[in-house]
Amino acid sequence: MQIESVENTLLSAVNPFLRRIISHFDVECKQDGSLLINSLRSFLGGDVSFCEKCNHLDRRIANPFYEAGSRLLRTDKVFMRNMFLEQEYGEAWLKGFALMMKGIEKYGIRIPFTPAGPFLIVWDFTHLCNLRCKHCYQNAGTTLPELSTEEAFEVVDKLSKIADVGLPALSFSGGEPLMRKDFFEVAAYASKKIPYITVATNGTLLTKDNAKRLKDVGVEYAEISLDGVSRQVHENFRRVPGCFEKTMDGMQNCIDENIDTCIATTAHKENLGEIEGIMDLADELSARFICFNYVPTGRAKRFIELDLSPEERLSVLEMVGKRMVDAYFKSKEEKDKCGRSDIGVDRFFSTCPQYSSVVKNLSRMKGETITVGSHYAATKAVENVADFLGGCGAGRLYMAVEPNGDMKPCVFFPTSEDTMIGNILKDEFEDVWNHNGFLWRLRTRKKLESYEANDRVIGCGVCEDRYICGGCRARAYYYFRGNINASDVGCIHNEELWRKVTKSIV
Ligand code: SF4
Ligand code: SF4
Repeated sequence: MQIESVENTLLSAVNPFLRRIISHFDVECKQDGSLLINSLRSFLGGDVSFCEKCNHLDRRIANPFYEAGSRLLRTDKVFMRNMFLEQEYGEAWLKGFALMMKGIEKYGIRIPFTPAGPFLIVWDFTHLCNLRCKHCYQNAGTTLPELSTEEAFEVVDKLSKIADVGLPALSFSGGEPLMRKDFFEVAAYASKKIPYITVATNGTLLTKDNAKRLKDVGVEYAEISLDGVSRQVHENFRRVPGCFEKTMDGMQNCIDENIDTCIATTAHKENLGEIEGIMDLADELSARFICFNYVPTGRAKRFIELDLSPEERLSVLEMVGKRMVDAYFKSKEEKDKCGRSDIGVDRFFSTCPQYSSVVKNLSRMKGETITVGSHYAATKAVENVADFLGGCGAGRLYMAVEPNGDMKPCVFFPTSEDTMIGNILKDEFEDVWNHNGFLWRLRTRKKLESYEANDRVIGCGVCEDRYICGGCRARAYYYFRGNINASDVGCIHNEELWRKVTKSIV
């Protein structure tokens, strides 16, 4: 059955009912705090004490609601308990869940789904940078205006109150975030108010001392950019001699501090032969690996010839996906044999939206369908809701803040009048999130375009994977001069279009 018809018939019928039920227990109790969150904790077996009123609402409404919902979605309660209650990041998951519930209350269940606020914000904290990388969406290295330390604190305060729930996860990026003298001060402040703090860095400033400080201020996850296992490939791309060793040392220093460390590689024409080697390195270091898409924004436009062809992108995604699928089956085998497995299935990942489509096809060849939501590493958390949460999350599950506080749907959109949706300090966040037209255009897949090639109608608009993928809208914006609904020419299904478009651009 077509997803649209499910949406149109079933969802429009049940949405008013769901919205009403949730509104009954979306209560902020003076004594107990958020009943949305506490009732979920209690449903999952957490130790929660309720006042009389909350207890009544929990027993009569919230608990039966969760019970029915978890049966319908066939959720794995053990996995949920593990993620929401027992792990260090439980608070972030709970907040994400509360944003989802409030999203249903506000907008109903939609495909794709829009929560009441983003799960993750990437904060391009500074324009400063000590490297000159070819792919830099920020075109960093400039001295454009930035927020003061006091204003940065204010941003954190605002983010910690989004939708009366608060932001689950904040990632400091840049430029190079550690270039700002107040980075540790602001990160420490943020980690007191936002449950999951991460940093995306080139790693060169992560001396032993700085890695320790990172740990001390509460940064949970460090994503360190590496573009090659050979110094030459890395430095040719990062364009500063000597940076390779510093990055490698920075990575090791984070690992030594027990920070969850991820090697981040932007796949492009010059490092295709390095990807397997980088993933082997991640294995050796027991680190994660994430593959970023080369999107022609900022300085990357000057090096447009580095963008991968659809065939090359597919081959990279298959390399990464194969590792994930193999890990999944190994972990399954272990679980069948001994009841548990410590194999990290989600250690190899890509933010490229076609990744879910590739993983789906690879796993099918092995007799099972695994779905990952692009930008979300947890296969288990998304497998039954991938059509709702999957694919490009720009302006829906995630968004970006610029060094001066301007907001845009994704870091890979250029900074221009039509992509800026407001300023975090000057505008009311709820207002922007609820009403901005650009955001709502990104929150539907119905307007995605299709086209004719070889007597067939193809493209993102008619693709069966558009709800788990949807194509990169920032790529469409670049290649089709601001048209965010055009097909993603980075995808193997759109090879014809890629050839046509690149002929006129490159
Ligand atoms: S055609 Fe578009 S929606 Fe389909 S897999 Fe390719 S990029 Fe994704
Ligand atoms: S536009 Fe979407 S798919 Fe592209 S990088 Fe941003 S979030 Fe990812």
